[in-house]
Amino acid sequence: MKDNGGSGGAGRKQGAASPCAACKLLRRRCSQECVFAPYFPADEPHKFASVHKVFGASNVNKMLQELPEHHRGDAVSSMVYEANARIRDPVYGCVGAISSLQQQIDVLQAQLALSQAEVVHMRMRQYSTSPVNHSPENHSPPSPPDSNHFWYEHGG
Ligand SMILES: [Zn+2]
Repeated sequence: MKDNGGSGGAGRKQGAASPCAACKLLRRRCSQECVFAPYFPADEPHKFASVHKVFGASNVNKMLQELPEHHRGDAVSSMVYEANARIRDPVYGCVGAISSLQQQIDVLQAQLALSQAEVVHMRMRQYSTSPVNHSPENHSPPSPPDSNHFWYEHGG
């Protein structure tokens, strides 16, 4: 009864019936402990084809073995990315993407510095012209308060 709803034999058939993409390409038997199987499923053969072409299967195997399992998925993603970039651009690989993004950063930083300088300039202009409105034609002396009048009349 307690076995009823469990995950009985979820991955049992996979090993024998369909090898992972790596083992299929390398024409070898895919074992239960195949290090590639979790990351190179049979329905995405291009992923392993790319890393195999650029890094070599045994290097990929070695790199994955040296990593703890929770890092292997990310490692495979980055290797696939790097390999695809190298295939697309045999000279620069993903360095081509990195340096073009770096150039964009430089250009945008220069634009940002210019805009910030402009903002400071505009604020300073606004500050020096806006608050007091003293035009020469409207110049009239402030009338003294009443108490002052009283004072002068009595003081004579
Ligand atoms: Zn395999």
